[in-house]
Amino acid sequence: MIVLAILHNVNQQIPAYEEALYKRLEQEHQFAEIVQSAVDAIIQIDLNGQIQAWNENAALLFGYSGEFIRNRSFAMLLGNDAAASVENQWLLESTQHEGFLKQYETRCRDASGHLFHVDLTSSLIYDDDHKAYGISIILRDISQRKHRETEIEQQYSKLTAQANQHAQQLSEKIAQLAEANNELKQLDQTRSEFVSLVSHQIRAPLTNMAGAVQRMQSSCAVATPTCHRMFGIFEQQVNRLDRLVQDVLNLSRIEQGDAFLHQEPMSVLPVVRQAIQQVETRISTHAIHLVEKPGLPLVYADRDRIVEVLTNLLDNAHKYTPDDKSIFVDIRADQSEVTVSVRDTGKGLPEADVEKIFEKFYRVDSSDSQSSYGYGLGLYLCRRLLELQGGHIWAENHPSGGAVFSFSLPVWEE
Ligand code: ADP
Repeated sequence: MIVLAILHNVNQQIPAYEEALYKRLEQEHQFAEIVQSAVDAIIQIDLNGQIQAWNENAALLFGYSGEFIRNRSFAMLLGNDAAASVENQWLLESTQHEGFLKQYETRCRDASGHLFHVDLTSSLIYDDDHKAYGISIILRDISQRKHRETEIEQQYSKLTAQANQHAQQLSEKIAQLAEANNELKQLDQTRSEFVSLVSHQIRAPLTNMAGAVQRMQSSCAVATPTCHRMFGIFEQQVNRLDRLVQDVLNLSRIEQGDAFLHQEPMSVLPVVRQAIQQVETRISTHAIHLVEKPGLPLVYADRDRIVEVLTNLLDNAHKYTPDDKSIFVDIRADQSEVTVSVRDTGKGLPEADVEKIFEKFYRVDSSDSQSSYGYGLGLYLCRRLLELQGGHIWAENHPSGGAVFSFSLPVWEE
């Protein structure tokens, strides 16, 4: 600084070359200050790799004093072993060949023997005649970044290992499930075939028995009143068994997802009449009144399945209504639906059960009394059969007593 001040004071009188010298000294001084205060370690070595100078941060980073390090090989900072010498040689040659080396990651060893990661950039230093006389090396301590990278890598490998393990377990589970599913499918298939076979095998003799009893009843001239009563009971039991077999068969088909529906555009009125007729041949204790309405639109449904639904509702109305009371069937329609309602004059339904009675095996009164004998399948099957055809069913109590069961089917659109 003193030299600079003197130079500055005599600036006016000195010749031009002295002015140039002054400027150059000032620039070198500024540069030296930048180097000293840089956050990175900056080291100057000669072309043989001997350390010539370094900044304060280099001294701090490596823990050696400036006097101690001067004229020692840069290899010392790289670890001072055989591998460090090879690496040092490579660094010198590469920098001299290319003129520079950029962002080369390596490890250095400080005075206490501690190894740390650095990012190294080197470049040749030239004199005024453009002749290389040394190499400047900038070292940035990247230990913390490396540490974080290692941690991330470890976490990543740990997570990958866990994910692989879970994936392996999952694929084993999937294979087990697939196997179990196949077994279940086979079992289901066998069960469905069995139910179908047994149902058909039972229905045939039942139909024959019902026919035989009817013939005996009508042509047996000498039958006593007791015999007639027995014939009646026989016929009733055969019908009940037939209904059970039919319900079990339908249940099995629905649960198997069997497409057993034969839908077609049809008029509801004749189907309602057919169901009423079928029920009246078996039941004479209740009068069934049909409120006929002409000009109803067609629906797209399976005739036989709708007869089954209606027969079920009429049988229930008869079962849960005292003798000699009436049952009313009403059909109505709007733009989108045709609705059929069966109203009885029995005791009605407990409000809490109005929804539940459509569940499988649900019965309000689970007694096995002769009059209300049942197994809670009828309404469940009605609901499923209607849903399969785009319809729905519901129950409510009539204000003047008795239950009303209604179902709707969508109007057929061509
Ligand atoms: P099941 O009659 O064989 O028990 P359902 O599924 O046909 O089976 O009926 C379920 C329950 O709904 C019956 O147990 C009965 O308690 C009630 N229920 C059905 N229809 C009527 C009705 N018309 N009046 C009163 N209760 C009824």
